[in-house]
Amino acid sequence: CGIVGYVGDKQAASFLLDGLAKLEYRGYDSAGIAVFNGESIRVEKSVGRLASLKDKIKDDMPQGVMGIGHTRWATHGRPSDRNSHPHTDCSGDFVVVHNGIIENYLTLKEDLIEKGHVFKSETDTEVVAHLIEEVYNGDFVASVREVLRRVEGSYSLVFMCSKHPGMLICAKQDNPLVIGLGEGENFIASDIPAIIQYTRRTYILNDGEMAVLTKDSIKISNRQGEPVTKKVFEVNWNA
Ligand code: GLU
Repeated sequence: CGIVGYVGDKQAASFLLDGLAKLEYRGYDSAGIAVFNGESIRVEKSVGRLASLKDKIKDDMPQGVMGIGHTRWATHGRPSDRNSHPHTDCSGDFVVVHNGIIENYLTLKEDLIEKGHVFKSETDTEVVAHLIEEVYNGDFVASVREVLRRVEGSYSLVFMCSKHPGMLICAKQDNPLVIGLGEGENFIASDIPAIIQYTRRTYILNDGEMAVLTKDSIKISNRQGEPVTKKVFEVNWNA
């Protein structure tokens, strides 16, 4: 339902929790964040209000300058801690947050189970995390592109990988996704209110587009991998 992402110099968790709070008005049943600390990714998630997630981590905030977050409106799998996003692959190196529905998840899941993947949730989303682990060839961007070739359905997706510090990849199909341009930091959100306090300069992604973000760069491309040039959209209203 709600998505946020951060890559920069500041502590990611504070933006992630704040951004998710700005998206609360959309409704949700669970919340979670994943933060990369320079070595590994820590995932914290919980069914219920954002307040329960905050409470869980208030004395031990995940440290790190890159992260992703999610508020979930369950479509596949009941609301529960396990079914909350972010979702991880078997190794814990890849994490994914997702809005929408992966229509062919059952076929993909059966195939991945046959290949030895062990699933931890009942969601459609978790297949995306295992699928990227399965197709990963050392090139994060190319591997995400391969995943997008194989999944059918609607999505806004954000990928993070502990083997690629400082890089977030997002993709959009039939669900909204916005990128916020900062100075030495960049933001991802499913809706503008999450980022408006941090930047008013945005790129609005179109269906079939993906973006690769570092703290100093944003590269947008289409499904074929061709670069897309986009105009900056200045938000001139207040949330
Ligand atoms: N289909 C996914 C799930 O049930 C994503 C739901 C959402 O958009 O929040 O976990």
